[in-house]
Amino acid sequence: MQERAGQLDRDAAFPDQEIERLRHLGALTMPLPVQGRERNDALADGLASLLILVGQGNLSVGRVLEAHINTMHLVARYGTEAQQRDTEAAARDGCLFGLWVTDPPAGGLRMQRAGDRIRLHGGKQFCSSAGHAGGALVTAADEAAGTRMLVLRLGIGETVSPLPAPLQGMRASTTGAVDFTGCDVPAGAILGELGDYLREPDFSAGAWRGSAVALGGLIALLDVAVAQLRESGRLDSPHGQARIGQAMIARETSRLWVRAAARAAEDLAADTAQRVATVGLGRIAVETACLDAMRLVQRSLGLSAFRQGTAVERICRDLSTYLRQPAPDEVLTGSASWFTANPEATVTA
Ligand SMILES: Cc1cc2nc3c(=O)[nH]c(=O)nc-3n(C[C@H](O)[C@H](O)[C@H](O)COP(=O)(O)OP(=O)(O)OC[C@H]3O[C@@H](n4cnc5c(N)ncnc54)[C@H](O)[C@@H]3O)c2cc1C
Repeated sequence: MQERAGQLDRDAAFPDQEIERLRHLGALTMPLPVQGRERNDALADGLASLLILVGQGNLSVGRVLEAHINTMHLVARYGTEAQQRDTEAAARDGCLFGLWVTDPPAGGLRMQRAGDRIRLHGGKQFCSSAGHAGGALVTAADEAAGTRMLVLRLGIGETVSPLPAPLQGMRASTTGAVDFTGCDVPAGAILGELGDYLREPDFSAGAWRGSAVALGGLIALLDVAVAQLRESGRLDSPHGQARIGQAMIARETSRLWVRAAARAAEDLAADTAQRVATVGLGRIAVETACLDAMRLVQRSLGLSAFRQGTAVERICRDLSTYLRQPAPDEVLTGSASWFTANPEATVTA
C-alpha cells in the first residue's frame, strides 16, 4: 500500500487493488465485536490492529475500510437477520459499503414512503468511496423530520459529483457528493427505527476506529521521518533526537489510547456514557498527538517536509485532513463533564 500511495494521491485515484486485496484477506467480512454478546477484548484488539496497519499503509484506504466496517457494525447492531445476511453476502462478493451521513448545507437527503417503496430527494456531501462503493448506509430525513438509516445497493440512478472545492488531502478516498433525487428503493432498505443512527453509544463510540486509522498514519510518518533524518546524517543531532523522542511519546500514547478506547467502545456490557466519554478523550488525545508529531517532524526535516511527491508531505496532508472530524470541542467537554461527575472512573485497557 505504501508503494502505491503516492501515485494514488497524485491521480486522486480510488485504491481498487488495495480494497480487492483486503476483501481477499477477509477484511470486509471480518467478525466484529458487536456481533458478540459480551466483552471480547481479543476481537476489539484484532480490529484495532487491522485499522492501524491499513492506516500505516495508506490513510485513504484506512478511511474507506473504516466506513465499510462502520456500516457492517450498524447493520449488525440494528439490522434484521435478513438484512445482516444480505449485507454480509454482498460484502463477501466484493461489495464495498460507504457510510454517507453528512448533509450539504442545503438539499440534504429526504425520504418519502409510498406503500412498499421509498422515494429519495436530495443528497449527501463528503461521501468517501463516491463512485466506487457498491452500497452505502445513508441517513435520510423522513416526513416526520426524524432521521432514519437506509442501506442501499448503489447504481440506482444516483449522481456522483466531485466536491465543489476538493479536499487537500485524502485524495485517494475519492470523497465527493452524491445526489439521490428521483431514486426509488424498497421499504426493506430501512435499517432500525427512527433515531437509531444518533443512539449512543454507537453514534459516538465508533470514532475509535478513525483514531486507530490515524494512529497508523502517525506510525508511518515517524518511520519515514527517521529514515530521512538518518539518510541526511541528521539523526544523531541532540535536538533532532529530542524531537523524535517527543514524537515517539505521542505515537505510543496514541497506541495506549486506541487500545483503551477500542476495548471500552466494544464492551457491550459497560455503561453507555462511560464508553462514549472514554472514546471522546481517546479521540482528542490521538488528534493532539498527531498534530504534535507533525509539528515535530516538520521542524526536524525543515522545508523538505513540504516537497510535493514525498511521503512525509503526503502523510501530513492526509493526516491533517483526516483529523478534521465532527464537533471536537463538544466531544472534549462532554467527556470532561462525564469524568468530573464520575471521579472514581478511570480509563483502563
Ligand atoms: C477524509 C474525510 C472523509 C470523510 N468521509 C465522509 C463520509 O464518507 N461520509 C460522511 O458522512 N462524512 C464524511 N466526512 C465528513 C465527516 O463526517 C465530518 O462531517 C467532517 O469531518 C466534520 O469536520 P469539521 O471539521 O467540518 O467539523 P465541525 O463539527 O464543523 O467542526 C469544526 C469546528 O466547529 C466547531 N463546532 C462544531 N459545531 C459547532 C456549533 N454548533 N457551534 C459552534 N462551533 C461548532 C468544532 O468544535 C470545530 O472547532 C469525511 C471527512 C473527512 C475529513
